Amino acid sequence: MIKCVLFDRDGTLGELVDPRYPRSLVPYCDIQSAFAKIKAKGYTVGVITNQSSIARGTGADYDFDGEFTSWGADIWKICPHDAADNCACRKPKSGLLLAAAKGLGVLPSECLVVGDRLSDILCAVNAGARAALVLTGFGATEKAAVLERFPDTPVLARFDEILRIL
Ligand SMILES: [Zn+2]
Repeated sequence: MIKCVLFDRDGTLGELVDPRYPRSLVPYCDIQSAFAKIKAKGYTVGVITNQSSIARGTGADYDFDGEFTSWGADIWKICPHDAADNCACRKPKSGLLLAAAKGLGVLPSECLVVGDRLSDILCAVNAGARAALVLTGFGATEKAAVLERFPDTPVLARFDEILRIL
């Protein structure tokens, strides 16, 4: 049974006008309202996001805590590393998901990850969680690769469509 929905940020909740700068995110719709609707159904809501912008400096001073709080997220986990750091948290590894699940006191199998990349799907599936792909961001580009490996993955036009399958 799914208890928690964990969203990727960039390309899933909104579009980055400038991919270097997390502050340039333009939400695809009212994120706070969408999160409230999901929470009203009894789910907890979180954000798990790779932010190499922090390692590169362009996101180092951005107030992610303030942003995720304003959206009403129950939990969030950020990978601040670059790919070259070879950390345990950067998706497609499952570190962010495992940390969020632990923080919420739920099992990975009780989590559903929503993201626009194969790396989001792998982060979930490799830890025993469920996953859904959105067609925003890189989703349209990654769809074929995702469905080839995981044909049962739900595909959503936009992240708030998750309400239809919860
Ligand atoms: Zn990391």
